[in-house]
Amino acid sequence: MDDINPATGARIDTYETDTAADIEAALARAADAANDWRDRPIRERERHVAAAGDVLRENTQTYAELITAEMGKPITQARAEIEKCAAVCDHYATHASAYLQPDGHPSPAGADVQTVYEPLGPVLAVMPWNFPFWQVFRFAAPALAAGNVALLKHASNVPGCAEAIADVFEAAGLPAGVFQTLLVGADAVEDVIRDDRVRAATLTGSEPAGSAVAATAGETLKKTVLELGGSDPFVVLDDADVAAAAASGAWARTLNSGQSCIAAKRFIVHTDVYEAFRDAFVSEIDSLTVGDPTREETDVGPQASAAGLDTTHEQVRASVDAGATVVTGGQPSDREGAFYEPTVLTDVPAGCPADTEELFGPVAAVFEVPDEAAAIAKANATAFGLGASVWTADRDRGRRVARAMDAGCAYVNQPVTSDPRVPFGGIGRSGYGRELAGAGIRAFVNRKTLWVE
Ligand code: NDP
Repeated sequence: MDDINPATGARIDTYETDTAADIEAALARAADAANDWRDRPIRERERHVAAAGDVLRENTQTYAELITAEMGKPITQARAEIEKCAAVCDHYATHASAYLQPDGHPSPAGADVQTVYEPLGPVLAVMPWNFPFWQVFRFAAPALAAGNVALLKHASNVPGCAEAIADVFEAAGLPAGVFQTLLVGADAVEDVIRDDRVRAATLTGSEPAGSAVAATAGETLKKTVLELGGSDPFVVLDDADVAAAAASGAWARTLNSGQSCIAAKRFIVHTDVYEAFRDAFVSEIDSLTVGDPTREETDVGPQASAAGLDTTHEQVRASVDAGATVVTGGQPSDREGAFYEPTVLTDVPAGCPADTEELFGPVAAVFEVPDEAAAIAKANATAFGLGASVWTADRDRGRRVARAMDAGCAYVNQPVTSDPRVPFGGIGRSGYGRELAGAGIRAFVNRKTLWVE
C-alpha cells in the first residue's frame, strides 16, 4: 500500500499487504481470543477500554500528526478527533455494564424470564479514511466492551493509522487477538466475511462498498451495520437567526475539508431570509483559511486523495453545465496538493449531482424555497437519510419540522454531530443499524432469552 501525503503528494511510506497466511493466522487468533475475552468480567473489559482512552490522550499529538500526514485533516481537527476517541472509550468504560444489564419481563408464575446480552465473537470492521481513528473507535469501544473481538480492515490510504490503532489497544493491555488490523485491500473482504469464524460485519463508507459487504453477509446470514453516505439538508426557516445559521452552516459544510458523511450539504432556505443567508454564508466560506493542514490556523486542508478531488470537481462541473451558478470557488486550488476551493453553488437544478449525489468535498448547494412545506419536501427529496438540521427561533416549530424529516437524526438550531451518548445512523441509502449509546453496544450481541423455571 502506497502511503501518500495528499497535501504534498510525497510518499510517506510503503506497506506490505497481508498474505493469505497472515489473514488465516489473524482469524485463528481472533477465534481463540473470542473464547477467552467473552468470559472476562465486563468490569475488566471496561477497564481495558478506559486504558485505551488513556493511551490516546497520552499520545494525542503523535496520532493527530499521523492523521494529518496520511489524509490531510487540519491538525486542530485531528487533535479533536483523538480527544473524541478517548471520550467514546470513557463513555463505554463507564456505561457498558449498565447498557448490557439483563432486561426483565413479566414472567409466568414460577418462572424467571430475562433477556441477557452476550457477545457474537469476531466482528469485521471495514472502515474509511475520513475520520481514520474516530470511525474505528466508534465501533471498537462498544464492541470490545460487549465481549466481541475486532478485525479491522482499514482504508488502503491510511495504513499508518490502522497500525497505530492496533498499537493503542496493545498498549492498553488487551490480550493478543482481541483487536487486530488486517492490511488488505477491498478484494480480500469477501473471503473474510465468508469465513465461519467471523460472526458479523460493520462498514462505514460508500454505497457500493456497503452493498458489497451486505451482499456477502446476506448470503452467509451474518448481521451487518452500514453507515454510508449522506446529502444532509440544512433548513433555514424565515424566523431563524441567520448569522448563527450561516456561521454554523459554513463550519458544518467544511469540517474535515468537506469529507464527512454528516456534513450539511444541501442548504434549503426560506425565501424571506434567502439573500441575507446566502450573503452571510458566502462571507463565512470566503473567510476560511485554506492551506497547509499542519498549521494551527488552517480551517480547510487538502482532499484526502487526488481521486477524491477529481470526483468532486466532476460533480461541480456537471452541476454547472446543468445550470448551477458558482458564487464562490468552483475549481481545484492552484496550490500544490489535492486542494479544492471552498465552493458555494446556487440556482442548482433538480437532478444534477449537487442536488442528488453526495458531494464529498467543500461544496455547498444553496436552494431557495417559498415556505415551510416546500422546505420539508426539498429536504426529503433525496434517497439518503443520515442527518438533518433545522434553524428557527421557535423550538416547537423546529421540533415539528425535524419530526417531518426523513433522516436517522435531526437537530434543531445545531449542526448534525455524532456524540457517544446518542444513537447515530441512517435510513434509506445512508445505511441501517445504529452506532453509539446503548443502541451501539447492542448492535453486535446475542439478545438471548433466558427462561428459568
Ligand atoms: P469506499 O467506500 O470505497 O471505502 C471505504 C472502505 O470500504 C475502505 O476500507 C475500502 O477499502 C472498503 N471497500 C471499498 N470497496 C469495497 C468492496 N467492494 N468490498 C468491501 N470493502 C470495500 O470509499 P472511498 O474512499 O472510495 O470514497 C468514495 C465515496 O464514498 C466518497 O466520495 C463518499 O461519498 C463516500 N464515503 C463515505 C464515508 C462516510 O463517512 N460515510 C467515508 C468515506 C467515503 P479500500 O480503501 O481498500 O478500497
